[in-house]
Amino acid sequence: MVTATAADTRPGIIVLDDDPEIAAVIAAALRRAGFAPTVAPNSEVFFSQLGRQHGIIIIDLMMPGVDGIQVLRELGEQQCEASIVLISNVDVRILAAAERLASGHRLRLLGSLRKPFEVSELLDVITSEPPPLPAKKPSRPQIEPTSPAELRRALDNDEFIVHFQPKISVKNLEFVAVEALARWAHPERGLLSPAHFISSAEQNGLIAPMTSAIIAKAFHQCAEWLDAGLRLKVAVNVSTRSLGDYDLPEWFEEQTRQAGILPHQVVIEITESWLGKDPMAMLEILTRLRMKGFSLSIDDFGTGYSTMLKLKTIPFSELKLDQSFIRDAASDAEARYIVESSIALGQRLGLHLVAEGVEKQEDWDLITELGCDEGQGYFIARPMRGGDVPHWLGRWKASLGQD
Ligand code: C2E
Ligand code: CA
Ligand code: CA
Repeated sequence: MVTATAADTRPGIIVLDDDPEIAAVIAAALRRAGFAPTVAPNSEVFFSQLGRQHGIIIIDLMMPGVDGIQVLRELGEQQCEASIVLISNVDVRILAAAERLASGHRLRLLGSLRKPFEVSELLDVITSEPPPLPAKKPSRPQIEPTSPAELRRALDNDEFIVHFQPKISVKNLEFVAVEALARWAHPERGLLSPAHFISSAEQNGLIAPMTSAIIAKAFHQCAEWLDAGLRLKVAVNVSTRSLGDYDLPEWFEEQTRQAGILPHQVVIEITESWLGKDPMAMLEILTRLRMKGFSLSIDDFGTGYSTMLKLKTIPFSELKLDQSFIRDAASDAEARYIVESSIALGQRLGLHLVAEGVEKQEDWDLITELGCDEGQGYFIARPMRGGDVPHWLGRWKASLGQD
């Protein structure tokens, strides 16, 4: 059944709801407000007769047969430009997921309402300014495959360099550490990020010499700063495949000795891929690294498989909250709960807490409020060449009124 009323200058509204009573109440209210609503009792009617109409579409999520979520996908495929209003009596988290799906399908979401709602609430949503269509995500820069021969040539030519990103103490805003991040100074393609070479190096058995080169450079830079009176901890990323070696603790110790820094200045950041191999070997290696004075950080906390188990098993000294949670926490209650509970958990376990991906003032305020120890992210500084760090520090101090 499709019932259309007289045309109007206001945008056409379609009410897609399987409940005839609710649909009738909504349609009557819209008509009183001067709109010309059309009711579609199910998605088949909607798509066969009305689906291509522009204007506003009010969609009930819960419908027998094709439900509202499936309708959103179909509208996305049709590149529908109508404004969408979601209505439902589902749990708020389901409604929030439906909103994410709508924007993921690049639909213009005007708003969403939980049943039962007041007519005035519906009218507020309907008459609000339609948002622009969500922009297409820029496609990731093309990652060209790198051949083992090219990686080997780059290693021989010493083309891998290190950039450093500052980590700041939340308590007193002091510059306390850097994370060393690998870069490839490619002669033709310019400066390349790790996405272009780490996994290729891992697959081709070249990650060990690459890690050695990066760590040696990071430690030497750290020693240079120390000589200049700047005592900083340095965090390094280590890939599983470069390890699995029982002598790793001795190797790290030797590297610090050669550079002239102390193990206490070094934080080893460990990601998911680590424990895939021999868990007993990993446990031994990591425990001995701790005994030698190195800090161990569990990187990207919260994203991987069995992170809790690792937290329980391995003697970590630091927990690094993943940037995806930090980025969303200021605006998204669920991300905030995850950040709050991870911090509470870390505190109970006596871990040093680091937040990465701090991009805005709100992110910084949040990690301060929740009691993180250190923050890292674009809000403070982007990764930079070692030589640029003293200059950045000067500006940082000036911004704090310490120059
Ligand atoms: P990661 O360990 O999680 O390092 C943090 C990444 O987040 C870095 O990307 C950094 O530039 C970026 N980042 C920092 N602050 C912000 C922020 O506020 N917003 C956003 N959107 N991003 C931020 P990068 O340098 O591209 O490194 C990517 C990953 O590559 C690293 O992730 C790490 O897993 C890996 N990696 C880097 N250097 C090495 C290395 O020497 N060895 C190994 N095995 N892996 C490395
Ligand atoms: Ca890291
Ligand atoms: Ca990370």
